[in-house]
Amino acid sequence: MSELAYPYEAPASQALFDRAAAVTPGGVNSPVRAFRAVGGTPRFMVSGSGPYLTDADGREYVDLVCSWGPMILGHAHPEVVAAVQEAVARGTSFGTPAEGEVALAEAMVERVAPLEEVRLVSSGTEATMSAIRLARGFTQRTKVIKFAGCYHGHVDSLLAAAGSGVATFALPDTPGVTGAQASDTIVLPYNDLDAVHAAFAAHPGEIACVITEASPGNMGVVPPLPGFNQGLKDACAANGALFVSDEVMTGFRTSRAGWYGVEGVVPDLMTFGKVMGGGFPAAAFGGRADVMAHLAPAGPVYQAGTLSGNPVATAAGLAQLRLLDDAAYAKVNAVSEQIQGLVTEALSKEGVAHTLQTASNMFSVFFTDGPVRDYEDAKAQESFRYTAFFHALLANGVYLPPSSFESWFVSTAHDERAVQCIADALPAAAREAAEATA
Ligand SMILES: *Cc1c(COP(=O)(O)O)cnc(C)c1O
Repeated sequence: MSELAYPYEAPASQALFDRAAAVTPGGVNSPVRAFRAVGGTPRFMVSGSGPYLTDADGREYVDLVCSWGPMILGHAHPEVVAAVQEAVARGTSFGTPAEGEVALAEAMVERVAPLEEVRLVSSGTEATMSAIRLARGFTQRTKVIKFAGCYHGHVDSLLAAAGSGVATFALPDTPGVTGAQASDTIVLPYNDLDAVHAAFAAHPGEIACVITEASPGNMGVVPPLPGFNQGLKDACAANGALFVSDEVMTGFRTSRAGWYGVEGVVPDLMTFGKVMGGGFPAAAFGGRADVMAHLAPAGPVYQAGTLSGNPVATAAGLAQLRLLDDAAYAKVNAVSEQIQGLVTEALSKEGVAHTLQTASNMFSVFFTDGPVRDYEDAKAQESFRYTAFFHALLANGVYLPPSSFESWFVSTAHDERAVQCIADALPAAAREAAEATA
C-alpha cells in the first residue's frame, strides 16, 4: 500500500497494478498513468459512462481527465457507440481507401478554414512527426524551433526541452535520442518572440519550421500571450519557414474549429488527434494544399500507415464531430466555467496561493502566484500542494490529472450531479492543499 496518509485503499487496482508491473515497464502503457508525480495506486478503470469512471474496486469518480481530452461528449456516448458498432460489424480494417476516411477529412476541412487537405494517421505523435518531415521536405531545410514545455508526442527530435537561455541547442531529454537528432531542434522559452527573432537571425535559411502547441496544455494551461502566435506566423513567413500549429489537444475542443477558431491565426500546417478520434486512435496533419502536395504518392515526401484512416476510428471520430455543434461547445464552456469558479472559490477560502489559467474550456490550477507564462513559471509552482489536493479529491470521487503539469478536461456530459460532486469534494481538498508541506 502507498505510504501516503490518505485514508483509503484500492485493493483491486493495486492487485492489477502488481500484475501489470510484472509484464509491463512501470505497470503502464503511458507514463503519467502510473501516478509517479502524485504517488499512490493508479486506479484501473473498468467502465465509463457520461462524466463518470468506475474503477476495479467499484468506486465511481467524476472524470476531469476525459482520456486527456478525447471524451468531449463524455464516456460511451450512445450515438458514438452506435456508430462504432455499426462500423465494426462491417469489418475492422480493409487496407484500401474507404468512404469513412473521406467523410472525416471533409468534416475537418469544412470546420477549419486553413485546412485545405489532411492526411489521416493513428496518433498525435505520428501527426507531428509527419508534419515536421513534410516541413523539412518542402523547405529543404533541417532545423526546427520548438518551445520548452510544449509537448508534441514522443517524436525523437522533439523530446528535447532542455536548454537555459535563448536559442540554446537542445540536449536530448531522454536516453535513446541521439545528439544528432536533438541538435536540429532549437528550444526557446514559450511566449518569447524576441527569442524567436534572435533564432531566425542566428540561423538564416536553416529553419524549416516553428512548431508550437496552438495553446499549450502540456505544462498545465499556458495560453499564448496576445500576438504571440501571429508573431510566430509572421516570423516564419518573413524567413521562408513554415508555421506548424499543433492542435492535437485543442483541435475540435476549444471551439468548433479548435484554437484556430478562437484566435484566427492561419498556420501553414496543423496537427490533430484526441477529439477527432472519438476515443479511437485517429489523428491527422494537414494545411496548405501546395505543401501537402509534396506528400507521397502525390509528391516525394514519404508517409504511410497500415491502420491510417481505420474505418472504426473514422466512424467514431465522425460521429463525435457531428455531435459537436455550437450548443455542445456552449455547454462544455459553461460547465468548465462553473467548475473553474468552484475551484477558485475553495482555494481562495483557504488562502492557498494559486493561479487558474484557461484556454477556452481547458483549464488548470498552478499552486503559485501567477501569471504562468512559460515552462519556468510552471515549474515554480508548489507541486506538493497539488499532490494533497489531488488525493483528497480522489478519495472523494473526483478524478483529476495525476500531475500538476496537465490540463483538466470536461465534457458535455458533466451535468449538475457531477458538478455537485466536485463542489462537495473541494472544500476538504482545498484544506489539504493549504496544510500540505513540501
Ligand atoms: C497528446 C498530444 C500529442 C501526442 O498525441 P498522441 O496521440 O499521444 O501521440 C501531441 N501534441 C499535443 C499538443 C498533445 O497534447
